[in-house]
Amino acid sequence: MYEGVVQDLIDELGRLPGVGPKSAQRIAFHLLGSDPADIKRLVDVLNAVAAGVQFCEVCGTVSEQERCRICRDPRRDPAMICVVEEPKDVLAIERTREFKGRYHVLGGALDPLSGVGPDQLRIRELLSRISSDEVSEVIIATDPNTEGEATATYLVRMLRDFPNLTVTRLASGLPMGGDLEFADELTLGRAFSGRRQV
Ligand code: ZN
Repeated sequence: MYEGVVQDLIDELGRLPGVGPKSAQRIAFHLLGSDPADIKRLVDVLNAVAAGVQFCEVCGTVSEQERCRICRDPRRDPAMICVVEEPKDVLAIERTREFKGRYHVLGGALDPLSGVGPDQLRIRELLSRISSDEVSEVIIATDPNTEGEATATYLVRMLRDFPNLTVTRLASGLPMGGDLEFADELTLGRAFSGRRQV
């Protein structure tokens, strides 16, 4: 245990995901030796996050404006919607350069044991997008794990109400049990181009 604020810093860093006690200590001492201007930039960003991050009113991803860059881009095909769990999945799919449509971020996956049901996800928003826009294909790209599979199954059932809609899922080959973002670009790109109708 260190005294005072140094230990507080290590404790706070250690609460971050993926940061163990040793990393927390290393980062803390890195910050202690940093230029005050660097620390101020970090503090400013954290303050901005604490003040609230804006989400796109259409797709739900992190955005600087009411509509995100992708939803504002007229070159992106509005007839195709790729459904993902989290904003980080949008980035993972963008990195593959396979997709030229738009996204819909659910904000998580169905997980009844943790109290996450359909009402906690942006499913109603998805259905109203499909009803009002000219959407021809919905690509379900939830994570390849139990919650992601359950969410995909639920969505497929809900989307049966739209007779002219093609619903596809990413091809298998993604590492099971993980996050979309853990798949390398090539694997994710292949799973995307090899998506199959469900
Ligand atoms: Zn958007």
